[in-house]
Amino acid sequence: MSEAGRLRDQALAAIARASTEPDLEAVEVEYLGRREGKISRQLLSGIAKLAPEQRAALGQEANEARRAVEAALEARRAEQKAAQLADIAQTEAIDVTFPAPPLPRGHIHVLSQVRHELEVIFARIGYTVEEGPEIETDWYNFEALNLPKGHASRDVQETFFLDEAEEVVLRTHTSPVQIRAMQRIGTPPIYIIAPGRVYRRDNLDATHLPYFMQLEGLAIDEGLTVGDLKGTLLYMTQSLFGQERQVRMRPHHFGYTEPSYEFDTMCGRCLGKGCRSCGGAGWLETGGCGMVHPQVLRNGGIDPDRYSGYAWGFGIERMALLKYDVEDLRLFYENDIRFNRQF
Ligand SMILES: [Zn+2]
Repeated sequence: MSEAGRLRDQALAAIARASTEPDLEAVEVEYLGRREGKISRQLLSGIAKLAPEQRAALGQEANEARRAVEAALEARRAEQKAAQLADIAQTEAIDVTFPAPPLPRGHIHVLSQVRHELEVIFARIGYTVEEGPEIETDWYNFEALNLPKGHASRDVQETFFLDEAEEVVLRTHTSPVQIRAMQRIGTPPIYIIAPGRVYRRDNLDATHLPYFMQLEGLAIDEGLTVGDLKGTLLYMTQSLFGQERQVRMRPHHFGYTEPSYEFDTMCGRCLGKGCRSCGGAGWLETGGCGMVHPQVLRNGGIDPDRYSGYAWGFGIERMALLKYDVEDLRLFYENDIRFNRQF
């Protein structure tokens, strides 16, 4: 075998062993480098020493060796490139034609839905929405509502106080908005609802929350009676639950209304006959109501000799619970997406 053929075989063996691009470059330099490459040098130096008639044969051998090595390098590089692409396809496979997963869409929370539904129901009969601060003074939260210091209702309403003197509170009900509305609007007629968050020092369980949403209603006009109050509650109940549902009022006592009542919604399962879901009563406790106490009207700057008013309040969670048969109040605030999605 000629010297050129021997170098070619060495180079081809080295190329076969090379597994990376730097390995291949090293082989390329070693054999085909312009000056120092073994095949190039053999070609240059060898030819010079030979008789002219031998030069052509050697030159041809050397050139053939060079071309064989170049071809082998090219083939090996193509192999390596293909292997790399296969690797990428394996580890980072992305099908760009595959449809993207849909983005999850949220929706309005059930309590906001019920609140909004109630706002619409009352807007239809001329009530406007009134809001007040969640941090209140003792005067708005208690005193002005005919609940002086030492009044029994103050003990029932477990209060969060925000100062040492116990003059600033987290409102325990939305009723202070009654006073603020009277002061803001001034001369009746006044027809407002006041939905909002209230706070009580209750322990968290299935039927108690340390904070919840209330909806307060207040109407002040000339000649309003308990009949108007009951009609309003009946309108609300039937709008929210259906025409078959009735309202019942039972005498009660609140400082800020006289007379005062608790009102119940007819059980939707048995329509008043009594069933397991209503504990046999046929009715479900819903909220409190009554005719606004004359002193409360006076505290709001309204003349009780000319005007009368009625008011009511209930928990929006309670309403949502009656509407959707939810058994545990805590579910409304846990934000478990499986629960929230049902509404
Ligand atoms: Zn029932």
